Amino acid sequence: MSKDKQFVTEITPQEEDFSRWYIDVIKKADLMDYSPVRGCIVFKPDGYEIWEHIKDELDRRFKETGHRNAYFPIFIPESFFQKEKEHVEGFNPELPWVTEAGGEKLEERLAIRPTSETMIGHMYSKWIQSYRDLPVLINQWANVVRWEKRTMPFLRTSEFLWQEGHTAHENEAEAREETMQMLDIYADFVENYLAIPVIKGQKTPSEKFAGAMDTYSIEAMMKDGRAVQAGTSHYMGTNFSKAFEIQYLNRDNTLEFAHTTSWGVSTRLIGSLIMVHGDDRGLALPPKVAPTQVIMVPIGPPKTWDAVLERTDELFSQLKAAGVRVRVDDNKDARPGWKFNEYEMRGVPVRLEIGPRDMENGVCVLVSRISGEKKVIQQSELVQEVQAMLEQVHLEMFNRAKQFREDHFYDVDTLDAMKESMDDKRGFTLAGWCGSDACEETVKQETGATSRNIPFDTTTEKTVCLVCGEQAKHTVLFAKAY
Ligand code: AMP
Repeated sequence: MSKDKQFVTEITPQEEDFSRWYIDVIKKADLMDYSPVRGCIVFKPDGYEIWEHIKDELDRRFKETGHRNAYFPIFIPESFFQKEKEHVEGFNPELPWVTEAGGEKLEERLAIRPTSETMIGHMYSKWIQSYRDLPVLINQWANVVRWEKRTMPFLRTSEFLWQEGHTAHENEAEAREETMQMLDIYADFVENYLAIPVIKGQKTPSEKFAGAMDTYSIEAMMKDGRAVQAGTSHYMGTNFSKAFEIQYLNRDNTLEFAHTTSWGVSTRLIGSLIMVHGDDRGLALPPKVAPTQVIMVPIGPPKTWDAVLERTDELFSQLKAAGVRVRVDDNKDARPGWKFNEYEMRGVPVRLEIGPRDMENGVCVLVSRISGEKKVIQQSELVQEVQAMLEQVHLEMFNRAKQFREDHFYDVDTLDAMKESMDDKRGFTLAGWCGSDACEETVKQETGATSRNIPFDTTTEKTVCLVCGEQAKHTVLFAKAY
């Protein structure tokens, strides 16, 4: 049997090897497969459907706030990258190039887009002439390529799916408001849809997007205590509009540069929700993005099987009509116990069991994936009961993740204490920072943790820099990150 054909039969416990656990789970739950190209993955239907639910809800929220979708080409001329110095320096090491096409060498190399600021900047310079053309509020759903050295399915891949919003505004205040609005949309979505608590804050200069004035992020804690940057929103100032000449005649008839923003989340969110909610039994999917929200398992001996199945179908139709993503497993050859394990491993939030005695009594049983709680409900109240349990599963997932984060949250005053914190415990650590790149680099070298962001809301204010002991300018969130 080839290595590719082997499938995982057991899931490595999280405590034994978290990375191994992650790979076991995503393969066993059939979310993805490796592709023949390094760092690229295949999104299998269950993995892709999670993305579709993420996409549908975000798209709705983007449109609700006045954005429209457009599509820009995947190939970007090399000369575009040379126009913004920081941008080219930041992205050059990760760019794949097309040098030949149609059997001929190209006159100018074409990059496969790692992000579209340059292409979109070029187009906006043609579209924006006057203040009447502003604001431009465009989003693109696309794939991008960054030739990453270290990869991990979903979390960091060489090709990934994402959305990138690109907006242009008359002035700084409006552009900054947009940057924050989108960060808030991300935070609200990730908390209320994916049940992942996040920390909003500003990136330090060394961690900001190449070419941005300011970068803001939402950071989430995985179950091994590491951080994932779950989304970013950038205020570009006039950096890109100067590079690409996005100029407009203002209300006083003088030429001005537009202020631009960009913001993005990617299929990394799928990896994050797996690492935040999963356990040793497998996946645990937040109900709002689970491809199957309810799995129905009819139970019973052969003589009552047809009757149970008929009732199951009726209940199925009621749930489906109410918009619940529901499936029935009526495979007679598999035992109920096997099915329970299988759908728990696949992370289905709610299981519905129905047997002959339940039928007689007009009841059925709901089981929560996250707490294991069993609830006997009246069939006549099926739809409300199922919707209530899905909501409860969501809340419980969020509360558990938040509790875990609180249990793994520290603050320190010195580098030694930070080292200890990183060696002995897992989690996020707050510390004071003087603002110098050198001190930030020292933390990275000595502890392996990087600055995640400068949180907006924190009750802990640190007064001294953990490295040099000088006065702290900021209280920074540090963590080892994916
Ligand atoms: P950026 O354009 O660098 O701000 O990235 C926007 C978002 O894309 C980040 O917040 C990440 O969530 C995500 N992202 C960046 N690099 C990767 C990658 N290699 N694989 C998956 N997602 C990524």
